[in-house]
Amino acid sequence: MLKFRFLRLFVSRSNLSPKPTTTFLPPLFTSLSTTPITKPTSPMASYPTSSASHSPKLLFRQLFEKDSSTYTYLLADQSHPEKPALLVDPVDRTVDRDISLVKDLGLKLIYAINTHVHADHVTGTGLIKTKVPGVKSIISKSSNAKADLFVEPGDKIYFGGLFLEVRATPGHTVGCVTYVTGDGRDQPQPRMAFTGDALLIRGCGRTDFQGGSSEQLYKSVHSQART
Ligand SMILES: [Zn+2]
Repeated sequence: MLKFRFLRLFVSRSNLSPKPTTTFLPPLFTSLSTTPITKPTSPMASYPTSSASHSPKLLFRQLFEKDSSTYTYLLADQSHPEKPALLVDPVDRTVDRDISLVKDLGLKLIYAINTHVHADHVTGTGLIKTKVPGVKSIISKSSNAKADLFVEPGDKIYFGGLFLEVRATPGHTVGCVTYVTGDGRDQPQPRMAFTGDALLIRGCGRTDFQGGSSEQLYKSVHSQART
């Protein structure tokens, strides 16, 4: 199964807009040019990506778990006194690494959020909750998974003065969502979209099981993730 999902990505773009009218071409990944995400070399790899997004508030790290080929993302508002942070798609076997990084950076982890629930994505959310009291898990309502908080399209997840916007991107699974950084002068620019398996680098997640639909995924990618 791993061969179908070798890359989980962070998409950062300069022309995100709320209207699903723009078909986006190669510049999709231009802001990644200084970030070595296509060839991770270590399961402990952590890439500071200050060049990928310009905001004095945002602290951002991309993390990789090689056995499941999963990218996890750490975001925090470092301008806030408590430095509230969240993890997107944490993996069970790298929970200790993620928690150590949070501590080393002096952050307060408040949310562990998932883009979807799937057999190929073993979340570390439950483990994090046992190790870091107070952390709330978040997933889409349409995933029918368990969590402390459920989100729907249009919801905003705040951490300090920053937020992620929730967009529905079904097709890989019925409950897939993409989390997009906020729109506004004090939010990171260019905006970033955390697509989970809905959109990968040079590909998409598979659609041949668990409620997958290639037609729906095509629509999701073009109307939500790339706009
Ligand atoms: Zn998946």
